[in-house]
Amino acid sequence: MLDNLTQRLAKVVKTMRGEARLTEANTAEMLREVRLALLEADVALPAVREFIAKVKEKALGEEVIGSLSPGQALVGVVQRELAALMGADLGPEATQLSFAQQPPAIILMAGLQGVGKTTTTGKLAKYLKEQKKKKVLTVSADVYRPAAIAQLESVTKQVGADFFPSHSTDKPVDIALNALDWAKKHYHDVLIIDTAGRLGIDEAMMQEIAAVHGAVKPIETLFVVDAMLGQDAINTAKAFNDALPLTGIVLTKLDGDSRGGAALSVRHVTGKPIKFAGVSEKLDGLEAFDPTRMASRVLG
Ligand code: GDP
Repeated sequence: MLDNLTQRLAKVVKTMRGEARLTEANTAEMLREVRLALLEADVALPAVREFIAKVKEKALGEEVIGSLSPGQALVGVVQRELAALMGADLGPEATQLSFAQQPPAIILMAGLQGVGKTTTTGKLAKYLKEQKKKKVLTVSADVYRPAAIAQLESVTKQVGADFFPSHSTDKPVDIALNALDWAKKHYHDVLIIDTAGRLGIDEAMMQEIAAVHGAVKPIETLFVVDAMLGQDAINTAKAFNDALPLTGIVLTKLDGDSRGGAALSVRHVTGKPIKFAGVSEKLDGLEAFDPTRMASRVLG
């Protein structure tokens, strides 16, 4: 078990009680510990560097108030800044989905294979139906894996939403447009489009999802990313963010044992709000993302 950051800093700061301010000298070793803690949580290096620079800027000159040690004061700055970077400053609205003025609101799901896109589509359908009282239609534009279409049909039926059937011989753009047409005719409030994912970043896949995006102009384009992904999260997020105007992120598999450093990496490259967290394989395992809780988790 790794020491949590507070314990690690406690070891470092034993020798420097009684200092009244955070200075370059008394924070250097502590910042090194913060950096290590973030790397151990699998935050990608560029995101760690940016974060450390920000903490340093905020911390230097900060008064050490009352009975706090410089270490405790620094932990306070680190926690505040990390929560801010996770999106705490964006306010609770950041986790809300936008709905089109003219229904249906279209939600496009993007991400690599296996991250939990189809499961999350089912979870979102359930959430929108039960919490927001929306009439939801789902469709799969994954024409490469017939099993993916069947899987979406299954999760959609489990949550009692409507499913628009597609076939592996159809073109993804046509599938999306046909589903949209159906949704309009049948007064659906929301259409969720699940898309194909590959095992790695792939130019053809990016062009295809960009074409689907261009054809239906979704109000929400959600990038689904696996919290267990670690350092790779940053490259994947960059590729999707470059190809698509993302509106938000869903971080899945937070029930696993990762510290979730991917959250910080993905925020670093996209700047987009993390709207939801996947916390179980089950279809009720979706929560509004909590930046403060996530900051504590990453710090361990
Ligand atoms: P896709 O290829 O991106 O559509 O991924 P799937 O939806 O098929 O999910 C891949 C695997 O991850 C499945 O076994 C899901 O049950 C699992 N999964 C998805 N979301 C979560 C989550 O939040 N927590 C856990 N533990 N498993 C998840």
